[in-house]
Amino acid sequence: MRLSRYYIPTLKEDPADADVVSHKLLMRAGMIRKLTSGIYNYLPLGLRSINKVAAIVREEMDRAGAMEVLLPMVQPADLWVETGRWDYYGKELLRVKDRHGRDYCLGPTHEEVITDLVRGEIKSYKQLPVNLYQIQTKFRDEIRPRFGLMRGREFIMKDAYSFDKDEDGAEKSYWEMFEAYRAAFSRIGLRFKPVQADSGAIGGDFSHEFMVLADTGEDTIASCLSCEFGANLEKARVKLPEAKPEVDESAVPAMEEVATPGVHTVEEVCSFLDITADKLVKTLLLVVDGEPVAALVRGDRELNDIKLRNIVGGNEIEMADEALVRELTNAPVGFAGPAGLDTNVPIYADRELTMSTDWVAGANKSDTHVLHLALERDCTIERYADLRVIEETDPCPECGGKIEFTRGIEVGHVFKLGLKYSEKMEATFLDENGKSKPMVMGCYGIGVSRIVASAIEQNNDENGCCFPPSIAPFEVCLISLGGKDQDVADKAEELYGEIMKLGVDAAYDDRKERPGVKFAEADLIGYPMQLVLGGKGLKNGIIEAKDRKTGEKIELPLDGFAEAFTAWRKEIWNNWGLEIA
Ligand code: ATP
Ligand code: MG
Repeated sequence: MRLSRYYIPTLKEDPADADVVSHKLLMRAGMIRKLTSGIYNYLPLGLRSINKVAAIVREEMDRAGAMEVLLPMVQPADLWVETGRWDYYGKELLRVKDRHGRDYCLGPTHEEVITDLVRGEIKSYKQLPVNLYQIQTKFRDEIRPRFGLMRGREFIMKDAYSFDKDEDGAEKSYWEMFEAYRAAFSRIGLRFKPVQADSGAIGGDFSHEFMVLADTGEDTIASCLSCEFGANLEKARVKLPEAKPEVDESAVPAMEEVATPGVHTVEEVCSFLDITADKLVKTLLLVVDGEPVAALVRGDRELNDIKLRNIVGGNEIEMADEALVRELTNAPVGFAGPAGLDTNVPIYADRELTMSTDWVAGANKSDTHVLHLALERDCTIERYADLRVIEETDPCPECGGKIEFTRGIEVGHVFKLGLKYSEKMEATFLDENGKSKPMVMGCYGIGVSRIVASAIEQNNDENGCCFPPSIAPFEVCLISLGGKDQDVADKAEELYGEIMKLGVDAAYDDRKERPGVKFAEADLIGYPMQLVLGGKGLKNGIIEAKDRKTGEKIELPLDGFAEAFTAWRKEIWNNWGLEIA
């Protein structure tokens, strides 16, 4: 592509509303433009990159036996009513009415539509399994669209859905997708890690997020330094110490009230009573699917509300509001405790609370706490379970090794759905014995546009993007420093022709710009390979070749250019850990 005829509106300055480097660089390199909050135009260079990501994803999905479809973006409300998500999905779902007043939404995801499609067509176990995917624009009215392509309201996603006749089949489909993701992200050139994620009601190990490791990531992941373990913070199990101390509740003195006027928070209680937070039981009141529950964790720990929700077996969880706290504890916020709490409220306690006794807790009475609380003796615990958020000082739940927290960007998610949609929507088939059964489903998403931003987050420097060659808008930029020198211009034309003949996508900077401008733009856009032909090089029979990532420059001979270039290109790809497509 000749840059003299190409549209690349670069910017000299960082846009004011861009906080992360990928957003800044995508704007400055002329790859995207904002239309309105969370909604972007993809310009020629940006779209090329997106399309390259999509092509790799498509190849890996096809290789895994999935079949591409394209479903409508506008979806009728009826389907969402069937699954209950018309009400449940909330404000991320953009709802619209047609001219007849009928309700529709813009697809944020396609479980309903795909299940509707499949239930109308697939009737027998002989037609299963099936895995269908699409690459399409999604719309989610995100509460906080930000970071450019990272969290848009409109974005491009690959979503796949598998249908199997039984659990074994569904698990096989799941792991096939898992491997396809690994292959795709490797080929894209991302440094990534699949981590365990919350699988909600399904349970088990059938939800993994693929995380790109980057400081700007919105997610925190716990990884083990010794083994393969990695988990999203909301999922990460907490390991209890092997040796359980002897806990003798009979030796604990009788529970005793103590006045704690105006002392609400853990810090305030600790400093007032001169104790450390690990002597305190923190009592949190929450509402799960409309029902109040209490959760206990040690004073220095944090409740993991996803774990609690899963233990209680609900969908929606939120903190109890002030009025409800007053109703349940007869006190303002800050004095809830497990002893003497409204007996209709089931109490779930973190397992760690079995490791000690003689606690301090709220007294369910204004300005009062209790000392010498023994949980088994003084209250009724519904269940002890792993309820807290893992900490960096905790051991790895799998091998006991050291845990490290890192930031990650979720670029993909594989998830076993089980019967959630097929039961509600009656997507059934007849099995080998003529018995009607719901299909076992899985869903698998990849954030195609987010990947381009993630790749930049991982690969940039003060001069701009350093794209992996697999998804760079163009692999190579040939810069002609001809100026008025017709010989250089002619030779550059010839070389451009040769590169094109090799089937390599090249940007050819044939513009009448100063060399400095051309160099700066090539660095900003981040073509992995730069070739620079000037008068001197032509005279000496060489062309300069620069590796954008390392900055390393070598000279390639003009005589036998095609071979030399091919070998250098191979080396560049290999240095990225990639094989030429
Ligand atoms: P997140 O936790 O980041 O909101 P999600 O759990 O809502 O993600 P999924 O529904 O699993 O995401 O969607 C599949 C993939 O689509 C995600 O892994 C992510 O890469 C991408 N994605 C989700 N939301 C957005 C968004 N607002 N902008 C860009 N990509 C997105
Ligand atoms: Mg989301």
